[in-house]
Amino acid sequence: MYVRFWGTRGSLPTPGPDTLRFGGNTSCVEVRTTADTLIIIDCGSGLHGLGQALAGSDGTPLSGHILISHTHWDHIQGFPFFDPFYPSENEWDIYAPKGLGQSLQDTLAGQMQYTYFPVRLDQMGARIRYHELVEDDFQIDDVRVRTRYLNHTALTLGFRLTADDTTLVYASDHEPFSRNLASGKGKIQGQDRRHCDFLAMADLVIHDAQFTFNEYPCKIGWGHSTVEYAVAMSREAKVARLALTHHDPLRTDAAIEEIVGIARNEQNDRLPTLDIFAAAEGQSLTLRPQERRVAGNAATTLNTPSLASPLLLMAVSDPSTANKIREAAQADGITIFEAGSITEALNTAQSVQPSLVILEIESDEVDAVEDHTWTHRLGKLPALDIPILIVADKENAARQAVVEGWLIKPFSSAYVRTRIRACLLRTVCRWERVLTSRNEEQRLAILHGLRILDTPREERFDRITRLAASIFNVPMALIILVDRERQWFKSTYGLDESETSREVSFCTHAVASEKVLVVPDTFQDPRFADNPLVTEAPRIRFYAGCPIFAGANCIGTVCVLDNRPREVDTDMIGLLHDLAALAEIELQKTQPTKN
Ligand SMILES: [Zn+2]
Ligand SMILES: [Zn+2]
Repeated sequence: MYVRFWGTRGSLPTPGPDTLRFGGNTSCVEVRTTADTLIIIDCGSGLHGLGQALAGSDGTPLSGHILISHTHWDHIQGFPFFDPFYPSENEWDIYAPKGLGQSLQDTLAGQMQYTYFPVRLDQMGARIRYHELVEDDFQIDDVRVRTRYLNHTALTLGFRLTADDTTLVYASDHEPFSRNLASGKGKIQGQDRRHCDFLAMADLVIHDAQFTFNEYPCKIGWGHSTVEYAVAMSREAKVARLALTHHDPLRTDAAIEEIVGIARNEQNDRLPTLDIFAAAEGQSLTLRPQERRVAGNAATTLNTPSLASPLLLMAVSDPSTANKIREAAQADGITIFEAGSITEALNTAQSVQPSLVILEIESDEVDAVEDHTWTHRLGKLPALDIPILIVADKENAARQAVVEGWLIKPFSSAYVRTRIRACLLRTVCRWERVLTSRNEEQRLAILHGLRILDTPREERFDRITRLAASIFNVPMALIILVDRERQWFKSTYGLDESETSREVSFCTHAVASEKVLVVPDTFQDPRFADNPLVTEAPRIRFYAGCPIFAGANCIGTVCVLDNRPREVDTDMIGLLHDLAALAEIELQKTQPTKN
């Protein structure tokens, strides 16, 4: 099940420099199943962007289903601006709570009266069918939908969608039934218990978290949740991931980050692990089934999701590698069972019932992985559907059937943590590393021969990054040289760091391909979405880098970065080439020396 956030703000759209990261558009979520059923939840101002994306995809008629939680303005204000409502060949089914007086159609027509909007509801060309909902359980194509009333100032429904063996719950806007629970502490009972049951075991819960408990005393009766309540309910319901949403209009990106940090810290050491994040406009994720089925017996499932009390079984002999894995596991509260050898690990796997197995093998064993002897050696492990990660110096790229993936050394604990999380959350790791290039040794010899690494800042390079930032109108521009294990910054505009590890580097991708690399939106790119430079500061959302050559060897890039998604045209690429050429000229002035 594919999920994308198009609007995450509550109450009022708040575009601006302080809301770039989490977004300023009001509520809208896109859901797509593998059978390509499209369900849109809520029609806040985020719906406009989704409409543009859908209308632009290709010329074929569009159809889909729209679930509206309630008709407060921030959940319907994008409705008149949804382009796919206008062509006559499109078909839409709209679902919303059944009110007492007005019909759904009349309510939606209300905000499109002549006084407010130039086009009337009945002038929209598409075929639109209206469905009024109460608490129910029904089917939309391959999606099972359950609805439950939430506690809000208007009649509001939450939606529980099940498809592709995964479950998503959308619960916004909603206030704790018992005000005592706003602190996240206290006995969950009555209506709150019923709400908890509605969230039970979901792979993803998208929950109202407009206020914090500190703010709540002034907001009682406004119909919204506290962060603490959303976390407590999700934890009690054994949910895998919680997306906090309906961000308060006064909340800046920095304030949201702080709140998420506090929510995460408070649950340290507590099981089950709950993955908490703040929904960000443009962010997408793919949910995969949590409960892995026992092969040959579809009716039997390992009935505790691996996240409930995650256990990592590992046999890793290299001490520094083992340490990195220990650090990564510890950071997420994962228990480790360490075996002395692969054989011991495989022998104990059945009794230990790990959520994940990590095995280190020698270089000369790499080619043997995935052949018969290995399959035999792994015994019942693949049948139990326990993911296996193999640590090695190089990858066996031939087949990928038996093991979940490869961890190629060297790697940081941040990288292995991302990979472990992806395995446990049944998602794909969207962080691709490029650790070497064509002619790596020759390339490094030329770079080191320039004797420019670790030299002080120089105006002749700084003027290039200043120009780059100005031409592209971006907050950050860099001249980067890619060393063996790091990228070092000869010049920076808008960034204080002087280097980062190579494994997080965007530029190493450009250097390896020796071509311009443009990433219009990192959230949408499987190579970068989980990269720490995207998920944490400096939160790169856009990247464009042009290689710099010394002779025939690509040694670095001139690149521009932004915190918002961007498109670039061919003229801009041309200018980036010009800037890279200027950097190359300056590098040539640096006297090469023989090592
Ligand atoms: Zn709202
Ligand atoms: Zn509302």
